[in-house]
Formats: sequence, structure tokens, C-alpha cells
Amino acid sequence: MKWTDLVFNEVRNHCNAHGSRTFTLEDFIKDKLPVFTAAKPENNNPEAKVRQQLQFLRDQGKISFLDNSGNYTLREIYLLDDELEETKTIDLSKEEPEKREYLLETYVRRVKWAKMAVDRLGDRCLCQGCENTFYRPDNSRYIEVHHIIPLFEGGEDAIWNLAVLCAHHHKKAHYSDTKSKQEMQAYLQAEVDRRIKLKMFA
Ligand SMILES: [Zn+2]
Ligand SMILES: [Zn+2]
Repeated sequence: MKWTDLVFNEVRNHCNAHGSRTFTLEDFIKDKLPVFTAAKPENNNPEAKVRQQLQFLRDQGKISFLDNSGNYTLREIYLLDDELEETKTIDLSKEEPEKREYLLETYVRRVKWAKMAVDRLGDRCLCQGCENTFYRPDNSRYIEVHHIIPLFEGGEDAIWNLAVLCAHHHKKAHYSDTKSKQEMQAYLQAEVDRRIKLKMFA
């Protein structure tokens, strides 16, 4: 197999195993270096080769570099294995990107990015003063997890891009007029940022 295909396959495997499209170079190398060494024993600097291939994948638009500290995100629009499992009663492939993403977020609960958002941000709608919820049969509060920058616009499954919203405000975030959408996006970005910082210094 060609290096680029090999690395891209392993990026997808890594994201699937971690239930998130966003990953760090460090974790990826730690996890996958043995795979590359076994597949390409003739190469004596696989780590450099992997970095170079990630650069190619970025040039092809398949992944993005998020920052200088080695965070990457898988850009190709496809569902992670756990997401497929949780959404198998609905066919997301036929939906427009915006609708597909909204449905994905509404159905997926056990995948890591969704759990991470609730663990870190709680189970109450982030909109100011909002008390909307209902209780599920298991007594937990109903909440939906939302990507502030949508995945189809290059958003990430990382904590700084995730919000928790009630069903009403989640629908508003996707389907309201452009101005309301932009205001909500800016508000959520600031609110999530504030909460992450609060936790960091707590
Ligand atoms: Zn959403
Ligand atoms: Zn709400």
C-alpha cells in the first residue's frame, strides 16, 4: 500500500477507536508507529515520513491542522463507526449536510465527543436563562450536543467546538435566520471558552 493511503487509513482507524475526528499528532504517532514500522520495515525514519504524509493529506483537504500544538481534525465527511451504529435506523447519506449534521447530533449519545461535551459542560442548555428540558425514563436530563462550527464547514469534535443545548435552542442554532445564527454562534463560542477556562483554573 502507498504511504499516503496507509497513513489515511490509520487516521480513520485512530479516529474510530477514539470516537472523535479530532486528534493530536502525539497520540497518533504513539498509537500507530508500530503499524507503520511493521508495514514499511525498509523505512528508517517512519515518524518523519508520517509527518510528511499528514502534510500531503492536508494539501488534499482530507485533514486540517488546527493549531501549532499538533491538533488535527479529519475533514472527510463520513460517519465514525460508533455514529453509524447509533444512527442505523435512519439513512443520513441522503440528507443535505446541514440536516445530516443536525440529525447526527440529535441521535448520537454514546460516542466520545458527545460524552465529552456533557462531562465538561454539564446537562443544562448553555443559552442564558434557559431551563428547557425533560427527564428521560432513566431520570437523566435530555440535552443535545452541538458543533458550534459545523463539521461540514470544517468544525471539530474538540471540546472548544462543542456546546450543549436544549432541543429548542439546538433547532434554532441550525434553522434560524442568518443573523440569529451568527449571534448564537458568537455567544456559544464565548460561553464555552469561558467555561473551559473556569474549569482549567478551578
Ligand atoms: Zn447542532
Ligand atoms: Zn435552551
